[in-house]
Amino acid sequence: MNPPDLPPPTLRLRIDAQALASNWRALDRLSGSGEAGAAVKANAYGIGVANVVPVLREAGARRFFVAHWSEVPALLDHAPASEIAVLHGPISPEDAAFAKATGVKPVLNSLHQVRLWLTAGGGLCDLMIDTGINRLGLPVAELGDGDIARLEIDTLMSHLASADENAAQNRQQLDLFASVAREIPARRRSLANSAGIALGLDYAFDLTRPGVALYGGIPRSELSGTIAQVAFPQAAVLQLRNLLPGDSVGYNALFTADEPIRAATVSLGYADGYLRAWTGRGELRRGDAVLPVLGRVSMDMIVVDASAAPDLREGDWLDLPYSLPEAAASSGLSQYELLTLLGRRFHTD
Ligand SMILES: *Cc1c(COP(=O)(O)O)cnc(C)c1O
Repeated sequence: MNPPDLPPPTLRLRIDAQALASNWRALDRLSGSGEAGAAVKANAYGIGVANVVPVLREAGARRFFVAHWSEVPALLDHAPASEIAVLHGPISPEDAAFAKATGVKPVLNSLHQVRLWLTAGGGLCDLMIDTGINRLGLPVAELGDGDIARLEIDTLMSHLASADENAAQNRQQLDLFASVAREIPARRRSLANSAGIALGLDYAFDLTRPGVALYGGIPRSELSGTIAQVAFPQAAVLQLRNLLPGDSVGYNALFTADEPIRAATVSLGYADGYLRAWTGRGELRRGDAVLPVLGRVSMDMIVVDASAAPDLREGDWLDLPYSLPEAAASSGLSQYELLTLLGRRFHTD
């Protein structure tokens, strides 16, 4: 017997597909004569590859980046192999064989990866040059290796370390990348992430790789007013109760009422990405009404002060304010963390 249909969820994530498409188009425009690709690693920053990639392809995006080989199958349901590149590159012969078998491009990051790729038969690949982040990418000193000349390079790329700041490192990386790009033949060159796009057209080259700004993140103030919120989390009220003066709430009784309070227990906790960083600072909304979090965030629940929403009923939905720059400022979490933390219990249509 098939299990019966699931009842309605108590967590949902509304995705504004128009905002997503318009964010990509804005970033593509800001890339000048270059085109914007899309970083869709980590399940499209927690928003869901299936929700995001069809919208981006419809808007015109044709180059998608994931980090892991394990992320390829879900992406292949929505984009052809020729549009996909894997940023971590091959670290085993199995990875290189998987790339060959699927037709997905590896981003090669080291001479070890270059040799694995050539041993597997080679073919079109991307090459990541390290220009100062010292994380993943071929050191410039190793570019003269004879095996580099044997590569068939589609996109020659590097990654900015401090593009969200006005740091001298940005110009240094730009200059180094431009000089490397003059020496290494490739079909196209790519340097800028979201923040790098905001640094100006010098940084755009032929292809940009926005991630966080597609999903409503604003890593530099130049992008505010251009980038719109995409992810709107909502959680349902599980129970309402009346607190009396002296009643405490939640684990370790961190909050004690000093007046009568109408409190709502809500289906949202740290297992859903609503971390304990929000304890004492978070608030939910019902229309214009603000419902502050009372006491500690639990795994599956929070309690909020519902006094400002006297008509609230069990089962009603509350909004989690998720304008990323503001949510980051009040929680101390990064805009990237706020997105990628969103748990698997959120329902999207
Ligand atoms: C994640 C990533 C991006 C996207 O960065 P954002 O800051 O989210 O725009 C671009 N390039 C590389 C190599 C990445 O790893």
